[in-house]
Amino acid sequence: MTLEIIVCVKQVPDTENLSGEAMKEDGTVNRSALPAIVNPEDLNALEMAVQIKEAHGARVTALSMGPPRAAEALRECLYRGADRAILVTDRRTAASDTLATSYVLSRAVRKAGLADLVLCGRQAIDGDTAQIGPQLAEKLGLPQFTYVEEIRKIDGHSLEVKRSLDGGYEVLRGPLPALLTVTSSANQPRPPSAKRLMRYKKALAPCECPGEASEDALLGLRARGLLIDQWDADDIEADISACGGSGSPTRVKKIESVKLQSEGQKQVEPSREGLGALVEELSKEHIFD
Ligand SMILES: Cc1cc2nc3c(=O)[nH]c(=O)nc-3n(C[C@H](O)[C@H](O)[C@H](O)COP(=O)(O)OP(=O)(O)OC[C@H]3O[C@@H](n4cnc5c(N)ncnc54)[C@H](O)[C@@H]3O)c2cc1C
Repeated sequence: MTLEIIVCVKQVPDTENLSGEAMKEDGTVNRSALPAIVNPEDLNALEMAVQIKEAHGARVTALSMGPPRAAEALRECLYRGADRAILVTDRRTAASDTLATSYVLSRAVRKAGLADLVLCGRQAIDGDTAQIGPQLAEKLGLPQFTYVEEIRKIDGHSLEVKRSLDGGYEVLRGPLPALLTVTSSANQPRPPSAKRLMRYKKALAPCECPGEASEDALLGLRARGLLIDQWDADDIEADISACGGSGSPTRVKKIESVKLQSEGQKQVEPSREGLGALVEELSKEHIFD
């Protein structure tokens, strides 16, 4: 059995390493000033795919829609076990909301040749909506399993997954092909392999090649398995009115920069009365009942 698995990966700003210049004056994120990383839960999805490959045999394709710089995220996936990488990049897809993003990804998955499994992270740490996986499943007409922590069984036709719930879990069975969204509790993503890093650091998307890359240069990269496929909206036969701003009904009404501040400390007398007053206060505030 060789399963075809597509893992959707998003390049995101590293929100854990925000510096003073991370925000613009208008309160929006200054993406160019932030280090870019692979969205953390997408690495969990990739790890799940690579574990399936190791146990059952599979070809793992990493797919990202973004600016040319998103090719960095795809190389990271190649270092961690992906076999193929596809970058969908086109200025006409900029300013896409989740509806337009999932449309573009659905066209790319179809062009890649519908997979047995499409894996997404549960949620991106910047957009934070967790809408892409479910929207993509709808557009591809696939059954969806969200919040997946574990694939318990899989063969060429069906799978059984453990899905996390608030305070518990459920086990679901269903047919393939299917789309899964994967949580951070699923696994510990492996670090990049030194051997793969040495090999794939030379992998390039055409948009990264210096000057106009010649046909021969691209053919050479492909022959060595080092070409990151690059598709635009025409390559995936996307309806341009459904892409970018024109395909995005969401409008950002207001952006607010929230500054979290601690309210300072309070000292409690180490006595029966002091502790009694503290318990009463916490109870009044419903911090505990
Ligand atoms: C009006 C509007 C304009 C916007 N304009 C821009 C813009 O110009 N540039 C921009 O970068 N963002 C823009 N965004 C944000 C953009 O809509 C979201 O980042 C994107 O749709 C993904 O949503 P999310 O981050 O909430 O992902 P989630 O739904 O939280 O992501 C879940 C999973 O889906 C997959 N996924 C998500 N996005 C991608 C992707 N691009 N490629 C591959 N897999 C993916 C990943 O597996 C991810 O873990 C805009 C949003 C709005 C509302």
